[in-house]
Amino acid sequence: MRQRRGHAIMVAFPFQGHITPYMNLAMKLASKGFLVTFVHLEFIHHKLLSSLSEPDPFTMARKSGLDIRYTTISDGFPIDHDRVDDKYWEFMLLNFWIRVDEFVGKLIRSSDPDLVPFLVTDTLFTWQTAVAEKHNLLKVSFWTEPALVFSLAYHVQLLRENGHFPCKDHVEEEINYVDGVKSVNTKDLMPYLKECRSRTLVHKVQMKAFDEVKKADFILHNTVYELESGILSALNKIQPNYAVGPISFSRNLPASVTRTLWSESDCSVWLRSKPPGSVLYISFGSSLQDSKQIVGEIAYGLLLSKVSFVWVVREDADLPSSFRDEITERGLVVPWCNQIKVLSDPAVGGFLTHCGWNSVLESMWCGVPMICHPLDYDQPTNRKLVVDDWKVGINLCEGGCVEREEVCEKMDGFMNGGVSERLRKEMKKVREKLHDALENDGSSEANFEQFVKDLKAKLAANAE
Ligand code: UDP
Repeated sequence: MRQRRGHAIMVAFPFQGHITPYMNLAMKLASKGFLVTFVHLEFIHHKLLSSLSEPDPFTMARKSGLDIRYTTISDGFPIDHDRVDDKYWEFMLLNFWIRVDEFVGKLIRSSDPDLVPFLVTDTLFTWQTAVAEKHNLLKVSFWTEPALVFSLAYHVQLLRENGHFPCKDHVEEEINYVDGVKSVNTKDLMPYLKECRSRTLVHKVQMKAFDEVKKADFILHNTVYELESGILSALNKIQPNYAVGPISFSRNLPASVTRTLWSESDCSVWLRSKPPGSVLYISFGSSLQDSKQIVGEIAYGLLLSKVSFVWVVREDADLPSSFRDEITERGLVVPWCNQIKVLSDPAVGGFLTHCGWNSVLESMWCGVPMICHPLDYDQPTNRKLVVDDWKVGINLCEGGCVEREEVCEKMDGFMNGGVSERLRKEMKKVREKLHDALENDGSSEANFEQFVKDLKAKLAANAE
C-alpha cells in the first residue's frame, strides 16, 4: 500500500532563541520528505521585515527542492502592541489555541486529502493538546533548552513530594532523587520553580506546558545525547525522547537559515585587527533587558581591565555617559550582530554570556570558553552544566552581586591567565562531542533518523 505523505504544521514561538532552532527543525523535516507549513505570528513577520531580512527564510530551500510553505497568522493584537505585558501572555495561555484551531482547520480542509497532517510545536506553547484532539493529529513537542531543565520541570510532582516545589527561596539542598539527574542544588533551579515566583505568569505557562508535554507522541531535544545521556535515557523510559541537537548546525541541509529580529552590525573588519584569541565577546541574549546596575558595573569593569571586547548592548541600555569615548579602539559596542559569525572569528577567545541555551550551544560549537552570568528562566541551571559539570566556563561573580573590581579581575584573568587554558582543554572535548553528534553516523543524526522512522510508522497507523 502507498504510504501517505506527512504534513508538519509548525507555528513558531515568538522569541529569537526559539525561532532559529525551530526553523532548522522545519528544514530537517522537509529534507526527510515531509511537507512543512511554517507559520510566524504576524508581528514577528513585521519585525523581520523591519530588520531588513526577507521574512520568508525558506526561499533558497524551496529552490533546492524542499517543500516548505511559509505563512502568517494573527494573535489578534495590533502589530505594535507591547507584548511584554501579562495580559498578552494570559491571552496566549488561555485563548490563542482558538486562533490556531481555526487556522489548522482551514489548512487541513484546503490540503490534498492524501496528506497526513501532524503538529510540531514548541514545548512552551500550551495549545497543542486542544488543537490535536480536535483534529485527531499526532503531536511532536520540540524542547529548546537542555534535558536537565526539561527533566526538573517534568518532575515537579516529585520535587513537591520532596519539599522542593515550590522551592523555598534561600534553601540550599541537593536534589538527587530524579531518575537520571545525578544531583542539582536547589540554588541552581530555574527561578520559576521558586516560591517567590510561584504566582507569576512564567510559572503558569511552564506548568501548563509540562502538563501538555506529557501527552505528546514524540519529544525532540535540542541537546546532544553524549552530554546528557543519563537524563535522556531516564526520560526515554517514560515517553519517546530524541536528542537531535545542536539542530541549528545540522549538516546536509540544502540551505542555511538564519533570521534574526534585529539588523546585524558587521564586526568582521574590527575583529580582523585583533590578535587571535584576544577578544571577549559579551552578550546577554535577546529577551531580557540587562539591569542598569549590571550594565554599569560591567562597563566600569571593562574600563578598569585591559581586555579587548565586542559588547552587544541594546540602544536603549544605560551605558555610563563617558564609556564610548573612553574605550577608544579597545572595544566595539553594537546593538546586535551575527553571534555565530563573531564566535567563529579567530580573534574571539571568550564569551561573557547570560547562559541562554542557544548561546551555550553556539559557544561550545565554536570552542569558545564562557564567563557566566545567568539572569533568569533556564539560565541558572544552564550555568551549572557549563561551569560545574562540563567545566567549560567560570562564574562572573561568586557572591551573586556584580561589582566592577571583580568583573575586571575575572575578565583579565580569564583572557590572559591559565584558567582559560584549563577551560580550553575541556572545551575541546565538549566541542568534539557536539561536532561528532552531527556527523552522518553521529548520535543526533541517528536519533533524528529513528524519530522520522517512528513518526512515519505512527502516522501510517493513525491514518488507517
Ligand atoms: N544573537 C544574535 N546576535 C546577537 C545576540 C544574540 O544573533 O547580537 C542570537 C544568538 O546567536 C542566539 C539567540 O540570539 O541564537 C539568543 O538565544 P539564547 O537562547 O542564547 O538567549 P535568549 O535570547 O533566548 O535569552
